[in-house]
Amino acid sequence: MPHDVELDQAWADRISPGRRGLLAGSGVAAGLMALGAGGPARAAPETSATASTVPRAETLAVITPAPASGQSPWGYETVGEPTPRPTSVRPGEQVLPDLPRPYTAIKSYHAHVYFDEDTYEKAALLRRWSAERFTVELGNWNLEPRGPHVTPSYYFGFLPEQLPVIVPWLQLNSLGLTILIHPNTDNPKADHLHYALWVNRAQPVNPYGMRTPVDADGHALIEQIFPNTTPSVRIEV
Ligand code: ZN
Repeated sequence: MPHDVELDQAWADRISPGRRGLLAGSGVAAGLMALGAGGPARAAPETSATASTVPRAETLAVITPAPASGQSPWGYETVGEPTPRPTSVRPGEQVLPDLPRPYTAIKSYHAHVYFDEDTYEKAALLRRWSAERFTVELGNWNLEPRGPHVTPSYYFGFLPEQLPVIVPWLQLNSLGLTILIHPNTDNPKADHLHYALWVNRAQPVNPYGMRTPVDADGHALIEQIFPNTTPSVRIEV
């Protein structure tokens, strides 16, 4: 598409709030001339002084793709489909609950530290600092997506009693990394989707395939913590 100074300026004018009053008051041609930005003088069509500045046909040509040779796998006029209500995945909330859930349903916590090729040294430092100071279950390095975690990560697990120290400690010592802190209840999907805390920004997790593991009698098996670190440093206070 050939470069069109007037068309570019017309779009800029549309986007800029400061120019709208000027355009509304005096028309595009006068506005462009006042700023000396109109390029070669060209008389504006008399009917084009307001919202029709950008030619309709050209606009459509820019945003309307050429007809494709294939077919949409979703069918056509999908906008007319009825609106379904998704099934709730928050336990106990299929209807408005009568009572809050007991916080004692949380048996342990995981802190998942995410990193990439630019931040792995920070992740390693945080990992060492954590193991030096806390009695936790420290997992291995995961350099590939694992479970609901879609980027490289490691985790350490800890008991609810440690939460009042570990959460503020991670807040102050994240080194800017993204950290997911999730509880372990009898519903891993909800633990990752709805019961989570994040240090710094959140990032995608995909726990929709997670199922609650059960024992031979059908009772939910809740994630347990088996500490494997030996702290050697007194935590800074
Ligand atoms: Zn976890």
